[in-house]
Amino acid sequence: MYKNIVDFIQKTYKTKEYIPLHEPRFLGNEKKYLNECIDSSFVSSVGKFVDSFEEKFASYIGSKYAVAMVNGTSALHIAVLVAGVKKDDEVITQALSFVATCNAISYCDAKPVFVDVDVDTMGMSPRALEVFLQKNCEMDGAKCINKTTKRQIKACVPMHTFGHPCKIEEIKNICDAWGIVLVEDAAESLGSYYKDKHAGTFGALGVFSFNGNKIITSGGGGVIVTDDAKLASRAKHLSTTAKVPHAYEFEHDALAYNYRMPNLNAALLLAQLEQLDDFLQSKRVLASHYENFFKDDAKLEFIKEPHDAKSNYWLQALIVKDKNQRDDLLKCLNDNGVMCRPIWKLLSELLMYKNCQNDGLKNAKYLEQRVVNIPSSVRI
Ligand SMILES: *Cc1c(COP(=O)(O)O)cnc(C)c1O
Repeated sequence: MYKNIVDFIQKTYKTKEYIPLHEPRFLGNEKKYLNECIDSSFVSSVGKFVDSFEEKFASYIGSKYAVAMVNGTSALHIAVLVAGVKKDDEVITQALSFVATCNAISYCDAKPVFVDVDVDTMGMSPRALEVFLQKNCEMDGAKCINKTTKRQIKACVPMHTFGHPCKIEEIKNICDAWGIVLVEDAAESLGSYYKDKHAGTFGALGVFSFNGNKIITSGGGGVIVTDDAKLASRAKHLSTTAKVPHAYEFEHDALAYNYRMPNLNAALLLAQLEQLDDFLQSKRVLASHYENFFKDDAKLEFIKEPHDAKSNYWLQALIVKDKNQRDDLLKCLNDNGVMCRPIWKLLSELLMYKNCQNDGLKNAKYLEQRVVNIPSSVRI
């Protein structure tokens, strides 16, 4: 039934072999930098590739500081920590996300609260956030208190789904008005802009991931970006066991983590960063092919970048208008060697998070039942 889609994707990728959802591409200086790194003997958490990556990354996205970590999840954990989130605080986030968003909040012993997303961005809805705060919260001095639980809402973590920016400026304004710290889960949105400003640079802190399936990869890796010197230095300190600098003594001044990105990973990542603009361009061309192919389809809608935003089109996606047809599509494509998969199960339905407060999550539920990702690798 969906054979024409299989044919089209095989033609687009010029292959009849299995087509994965998202493969990394190593087309630049990867081997050269990795060899240099090995030859230097600095393969671990100190080295010039880490420093050089942090500098180039910060400048690429227009942020003052970047602090590299072992993965995006650890970067999120540290970001939520340095945002000031403590035990029994609450953090507002979206239920339509990868589990790491919520896990990072839980690692800080804080409680997630879920508000709905917008259908066009698949990211947190500023309207839903405002309505939730008006209905459930009150200010106590500079603190936003949840009237139901009496806990303070300390932070808000929206996510830019598949690289499509959410309405982050509006979310920032609401957070500012309610004394809530904004931390952006920008794990999927390197190369994405909202009104010409890079995703991840609106909040006090932003977090990116370089896992193997992201737009560029270090094998495993993540980074925190911020314009605040104190937050940057705190993030670096807490990700390097809070060791007080000294030539030989061991002094640690806080309970902290060993989350620093190794130089070996940074060597790979630096080579990947050099190719980012080419990858972004390739993904836009792919998106335009998909858009064109699906434009007259009455049953399937290709998800385009939202208004006011430029998306990196990291993972390309369709909406199956009739939710009862979603599984047929998934089965037909996967059976024919074209990988596709549904969007995540809502975090509010996972065992760990099913008792968290939420606002009904109408749009998140609509999307959960209908969104399917299709092959999105950079084409060679
Ligand atoms: C990939 C991802 C992360 C976590 O990144 P890892 O590097 O895999 O730990 C966090 N949040 C979102 C939304 C992601 O897609």
